[in-house]
This record gives sequence, C-alpha cells and structure tokens, in this order.
Amino acid sequence: MREIDLVVIGAGVAGLTAATHAARYGLTVVAVERMGVGGQIAAAERIENFLPHALSGAELGPLLHEQAEAAGAEFILDDVTGIAVDGDWRMVATATETIKARAAIVAAGSTPRPLGVPGEAALIGRGVSHCASCDGHFFAGQDVCVIGGGDSALDEALVLAEHAAHVTIIHRGTTLDAQRVLIDRVTAHGKIEIALSTAVEAILGDDRVAAVNLRNLATATTYDRPVKGVFVYVGLAANTAFLGPLVALDANGQIETDRMMRTSVPGIFAAGDIRAHSVAQLTAAAGDGATAAIAAWRYLKARA
Ligand code: NAP
Repeated sequence: MREIDLVVIGAGVAGLTAATHAARYGLTVVAVERMGVGGQIAAAERIENFLPHALSGAELGPLLHEQAEAAGAEFILDDVTGIAVDGDWRMVATATETIKARAAIVAAGSTPRPLGVPGEAALIGRGVSHCASCDGHFFAGQDVCVIGGGDSALDEALVLAEHAAHVTIIHRGTTLDAQRVLIDRVTAHGKIEIALSTAVEAILGDDRVAAVNLRNLATATTYDRPVKGVFVYVGLAANTAFLGPLVALDANGQIETDRMMRTSVPGIFAAGDIRAHSVAQLTAAAGDGATAAIAAWRYLKARA
C-alpha cells in the first residue's frame, strides 16, 4: 500500500494546481483522476478569461498536467470509491487499490445536472447531450436547441452555431443569467434565436430526438418545436457521492469549507466547483487549488 503525504482527488484545474503547489512545497503527492486531465474545461473550445490570447481546454489541461508532473506529482488513472479516516491516515479507496495519505484534497468537480423531463434519460446519446464541443459536429446543418440561460448555455450555443443550421436557446427566465460578453454575442448571432419565459415539458422522439414540447410561461400555451439535438445546461451537481456522509455538505450538495479550504474533517480539504460558494471559474478553481495545497502543507508541518 502506498504511504504518501497528500492525495489529490480529481485532475481538473483545481486538482492540477493543488498537485503542482503541494509538490513544490516538498510533499509526496499522488493525484487520482478517473477520466482525462482538465476536468470541465477539457471540453471548452475557447477559454478567453485566463490569458490575453484564447486557448482551448484541450491545450490548457495537458499544460497544467505537465507542470504538476515536472514539480514531482504522480498521476494515476483510477476511480476513487471512498475515503475513510484511520487515525492520522486518510484512507482513499480506488477501484484498484487503497492509498494511505496524511492529507487529502477533494477536487472531484461537478457534472451537468439533468433537466428531469420525460424523454431526457431515454434519449441521452440519441440527440440529448451535455457537450456541444464533443457532439456539435453530429448536428451539421440541423436545428438544435440549448436549454438554460447561464454561461454554459450561451457558450455552448455559440459552439453549436458553428455546425447547426439554427440554434434556439430556451430559458425559463425573463432575462439571461450570463456574462454580458456572451449575451451580446448570442443576441447578434444570425443563427441563434432566444426563447425566454419558455420551459421544456418533454423531449420527444422514439429512437432519436425529434422535437421538444415547450410551454410559453407568459401565455400558458404549449407547442412542439422540431429539433434534432437538445443540449442541456441547467447547472452543475457536485461529484460528492463517493464521500458518503464523511464531510459536511451544504443544501446544494457542495462541500462546506472555510477560507483555507478546510472541510469539516481535519486533514481533508476541498477545492474548485465541488465546494460550497465556488464561482465555478477556471481562475477561481486554480486559486482554490493553491490555497488547499498550502493549507495541507501547513497541516502536515504542524504534525511533523
Ligand atoms: P448556472 O449558472 O447555474 O445556470 C443554470 C441555468 O439553467 C440558469 O439559467 C437556470 O435558470 C437554468 N435552470 C436551472 N434549473 C433549471 C430547470 N430545472 N429547468 C430549466 N432551466 C433551469 O449554470 P452554468 O451555466 O452551467 O454555469 C455554472 C458555472 O460555471 C457558473 O458559475 C458559470 O459562471 C461558470 N461558467 C463560466 C463560463 C465562462 O466563464 N465562459 C462558461 C461556462 C460556465 P434559473 O435562473 O431560472 O434557475
């Protein structure tokens, strides 16, 4: 069984930054990631709010990974299934091993929430998607819709408009909830239509998506709109299931932390959009990761 100073769970921006900082402070660090490096930003086509020039998530993730490995962090591809406390050890169980670490940083990120309407679950992968960058090209020349009025919905509508014939943003609110720069772009885009005060009642289709059933909330009328693709961006759910009741969560299911990213359990820290009050931005996730790493280093130093 490995015995190390720090295990970092998740290799998104928060986890990668935490791994780099902790390794540079001299800790032995293993980062465990179940997919690929980069987390949510891996699918981002254009990151415009980090460096003066835009870059893609597919470019940024590997750069942060390279930086963490150069600092001395080790990475393993595995699925973390649970954490337990055993005296001074934080026992991290994965699908293939148990890692004994003196401290842990949970940076497992979040997953897009489902809309929860009839037809959605059955048609996932058959026209229903949460990733325009991954699936947008399947809808070249077709009509699609995006559900939600936040940054994700608008960002992804712009990606889809590069492929689709027509993109309808369907939002239940009376105004969009996104950054002004994105609102201006979708509003000016010739292929994008915005349907406000509109709720999706059902996603229709047998083998594949054929239409959405919509309710105009102002008039209380319902109607079907034919579409081939439905892209759902109605917020994020924190990936905390593997923690069980170990650490305190808020009402949204996100991990409660203090300003040093300490959770309710000593020696367990949380960083990125898995933690309560995260603004879910790349730069904030990096800040959380650095803070958590330094807090973990101080925690271990106090016990040395
Ligand atoms: P979000 O900001 O939570 O927005 C979710 C949207 O979905 C809201 O418009 C919300 O409308 C709507 N919604 C929620 N539940 C719904 C339901 N059951 N039915 C219909 N609509 C529903 O989520 P997000 O857009 O995924 O963004 C998450 C975080 O990532 C944010 O902090 C965002 O700033 C960040 N982000 C940033 C960028 C960027 O910087 N370029 C890109 C993507 C994401 P209501 O207001 O009516 O609830």
